[in-house]
Amino acid sequence: MQERVSGHLARNYVAEIARYHRIQATPQFREAAEYCRERFEEFGIRAEVLGFPAREGTLYWGWPMFQEWEASEGVLHLIDPPEAKKKLADYNEARLSLFQRSAPFQGEAEVVLLEDGEEWAEYEGLDLKGKVVLTRGDRDRVHRLAVEKHGAVGIITDALKELPGLRHPMDLPDALQYNSFWWYGGETKCFGFVLSPKEGARLRALIKQRQREGKPPVRVQATVNSRFSDGQIDVVSALIPGQTDEEVVLLAHLCHPQGAANDNASGSATVLEVARTVQALISEGTLGQPRRGIRFLLVPEMLGLAAYLANNESSIPRMIAALNLDMVGEDQDLCGSTMTIEQAPASFANFADDLVVRLVEETSTGATNFAGLGSGAGVRHATTSFSGGSDHCLLIDPSVGVPCPMINQWPDKFYHTSTDTLEKVDPSQLARVGTVAATYAYFLANAGTEEVPWLAEEVLSRHKTRILALTRDAVTRATGNDQQGEDAAKLARRVRFLEERTVRALASIRRLADVDVSAWQQEAREFAEGELGRIANLVPHSPPKPQAGEWEEEAASIVPRRLCPGPVDPKNFINRMSDEEYERWWRVYRESPEATYAYPAMLLYWADGQRNVQEICDLIELETGKRATELLVTCCRLWDRLGLVELSTTP
Ligand SMILES: [Zn+2]
Repeated sequence: MQERVSGHLARNYVAEIARYHRIQATPQFREAAEYCRERFEEFGIRAEVLGFPAREGTLYWGWPMFQEWEASEGVLHLIDPPEAKKKLADYNEARLSLFQRSAPFQGEAEVVLLEDGEEWAEYEGLDLKGKVVLTRGDRDRVHRLAVEKHGAVGIITDALKELPGLRHPMDLPDALQYNSFWWYGGETKCFGFVLSPKEGARLRALIKQRQREGKPPVRVQATVNSRFSDGQIDVVSALIPGQTDEEVVLLAHLCHPQGAANDNASGSATVLEVARTVQALISEGTLGQPRRGIRFLLVPEMLGLAAYLANNESSIPRMIAALNLDMVGEDQDLCGSTMTIEQAPASFANFADDLVVRLVEETSTGATNFAGLGSGAGVRHATTSFSGGSDHCLLIDPSVGVPCPMINQWPDKFYHTSTDTLEKVDPSQLARVGTVAATYAYFLANAGTEEVPWLAEEVLSRHKTRILALTRDAVTRATGNDQQGEDAAKLARRVRFLEERTVRALASIRRLADVDVSAWQQEAREFAEGELGRIANLVPHSPPKPQAGEWEEEAASIVPRRLCPGPVDPKNFINRMSDEEYERWWRVYRESPEATYAYPAMLLYWADGQRNVQEICDLIELETGKRATELLVTCCRLWDRLGLVELSTTP
């Protein structure tokens, strides 16, 4: 695979795909999908573009759908004061100038400056009717408060999301942030324009100056030509057939704005290059026809995969494993990124994570010492725990049950901005990930009785390393009298949690062949217990502290039961929240927006209709070291009210 996967061909596919403005459920996305379908066909692989209905009110599992959208124009002019007249934004010059899914508009409006527009107090005494707000605040929040509640007609944002330690907005003064509206039905649709931090700073200064001088307000003229219609959301599906109806799935999201290269033309292009390579090797006879089929899916992120899975439920049990490629082409020096392999959470422990880690290690060696001996990583890579937010989080839901690690590069200095462009893509990185993905797919497509023991050894040895890391860390903290350090009881719980995780991961190898893995499971347990016993006297023993508090009590009293497969993201249901629910959601969301990607999904993964929310919080804390009781109780109450999850109470 390493000899045949071409990073340069993959980079050419990135360039081609990046030319399309690939917003989910749009005609241009369909064109990009068609481009990819033609490439598969050219490689000699049967491919199709599947269209699923895109209209408001449709749910694919827990994922609400919106209408198709198309825009032909989006221009914002500063018209008052006349001496400052200029064009501020133009969708046809820069696709990110407009919020995707902006509603049509034609007219002039005063611009009102809001610092971030997230708090009700900021709106006191303001008349926003028919006006446009300039803000750096959260899109959904500003829409709700400024547009829905105060009658503003549009939003201008100059926010550029900070990535701590890597990107301050002023590092990219001319960049535009990627912004979209998601209209699920019932909202007051509006338009939005995006300014760079530099342009935003100028406009802010002008507005403040006019205010200070008591002069008439700044006005803009906005034109948005766009339309919504019931249409479809498209998924590209291609298959190298196997000798059985089982499948290994390679997956990438094809969506995102024109120009966006690493996110995720890189993943889609790598999928194409893997398909080309594997099919060529099979056609020339170097590789045999695989035992299982290899399916390639290029989807609109989350929603497109949810639509595909919800419409192909009967094929899910035949998917023995998958791999998600999301942002894989980064030039690490330019982007400040690290190649990460995101593992499944403990609720769906499986063999696939360790397999990918091994393949990444094999393909990432580079540096040796002066004598040419030894080898170190030639590229930055790391294994990270579950954080959600991409397509794998649908597949690794135990209710779906398909092992699916993600290869990603994070953080990326240019992420979700107009500066995520082709020159940030490194062909050698595409080749590396392509080699890993091709090997993973072909290996698993053929893996059987012979491969199970090797894979079991791989999982077992990495288990031992993980146990050793845990105990070593506990001893270090205890020796340093770290107050946050672990006492013996807590350490024992964490070791046993890891032990159970490995036992389940080993059991999952039996998806490949019916081989007895109990010897490896036995060894995994004995090793963990042995280490625990060996260091027992090196860590302190202290009396247990029970979890207490209002949220803990409520958490202990409710048991969630799932009503559909796959995770449910509360953010997609803001339009159905009452004012009271929304304010409560906003408070927990504000506290830690990132947490709302991972924890609600992790809660649902553990929800088996038996465990109460507090027990689930315990499990999540064992895995992540963090407790998110208030967030998770809030989610459960909300889901229950929306009919997405059913709650029963424990006595
Ligand atoms: Zn993205």
